[in-house]
Amino acid sequence: MANTFDIAVFAGDGIGPEIMAPTVEILRKMADASDKYDLRFVDAPAGAAHYAKTGESFPATSMEIAKSADAILLSAMGLPDVRYPDGTEISPQIDLRKALTLFAGVRPVTVKAGQTTPLNMPEGKEIDFVLIRESTEGLFYTQGRGEVSENEARETLLITREISEKLFKFTFALAQNRKKAGRGTGRVTCVDKANVFRAFAFFRDMFDAEAANHADLKADHAYVDATALWMVQKPWDFDVLVTENMFGDILSDLGAGLMGGLGLAPSADIGLEHAVFQPCHGSAPDIAGQGVANPMAMILSAAMMLDWLGLEKGNAAMVEDARRLREAVEDVVAEGRVLTRDLGGSAGTDEAARAVLDML
Ligand code: ATP
Ligand code: MG
Repeated sequence: MANTFDIAVFAGDGIGPEIMAPTVEILRKMADASDKYDLRFVDAPAGAAHYAKTGESFPATSMEIAKSADAILLSAMGLPDVRYPDGTEISPQIDLRKALTLFAGVRPVTVKAGQTTPLNMPEGKEIDFVLIRESTEGLFYTQGRGEVSENEARETLLITREISEKLFKFTFALAQNRKKAGRGTGRVTCVDKANVFRAFAFFRDMFDAEAANHADLKADHAYVDATALWMVQKPWDFDVLVTENMFGDILSDLGAGLMGGLGLAPSADIGLEHAVFQPCHGSAPDIAGQGVANPMAMILSAAMMLDWLGLEKGNAAMVEDARRLREAVEDVVAEGRVLTRDLGGSAGTDEAARAVLDML
């Protein structure tokens, strides 16, 4: 069937398999209920536990599954006590980002009714913006390869035309889709430090060039320091933000902080041909095996996957199911009856996932 899509499933380590199983079940039920699309799930073993068992952290067969899939679903990989002999962490998700050139890290930041946040939210306000972090170059370019001598250390900030143009094209298309879906205000903000660094002036020029193709969207600029301030003072004013790798790294943790923690924070790493969807949190080894992990960030990541696939493949039913799934999670959280421990409740992983299914 032309509308059957292959999903590579990296169930990973720690709580990974516990949150992946109910998420796949929800997706399967939604696809079964729809005559407009079908999903086929293919397990891709990888990660720290797999390394401990087999001596391989990312088998070539799993990379093949990822490359040939229409989308990739990943929970969390890595364990503190399983490392490579040189001491470095096992993180196949970073290998994937490199191998598939996933240049756009997409982090939605939402605070809806019922959700706890460290901010004092004015009556009637909600936070709903997307931070897009360039994920292949910028200040991470020399990662692990910086020059260090006795009295000096240097790293490189690399901004290329090739990646930046793709990044901004992607960013404006995403803003357009949000506006069409009635979600965003159509504002796109380039976050940089163009007043100090020529590399960021270059970045901004390419942003402006792409902005000129989108008269229906409002493009503007902000310095990264001011953006950090505004993310705390008036985050409800933002719609879509796009920035360099290191700035995005820092601001996306600030965004997760606004959301009251990691349990509700999804993310995506997107390139021209591939995309990986995974929660912002890690494998949480401290609570693994207890059945108490919050599955919502994983389920929201699955909703992002449906949305992306639907838009890529021109399948409106998937975009609609993505919205339904996201709203079901928001409703369960707002209702507050079935919450996992991290959100102040006492429900287990499966119970929380079942509440989402019931809401659907
Ligand atoms: P990584 O380096 O892989 O990002 P980390 O050290 O940042 O990992 P996490 O694994 O994200 O840490 O866990 C941080 C804390 O948040 C832990 O106490 C963990 O139990 C908790 N946590 C993370 N994810 C969840 C979840 N889905 N449900 C409940 N608690 C979680
Ligand atoms: Mg972490």
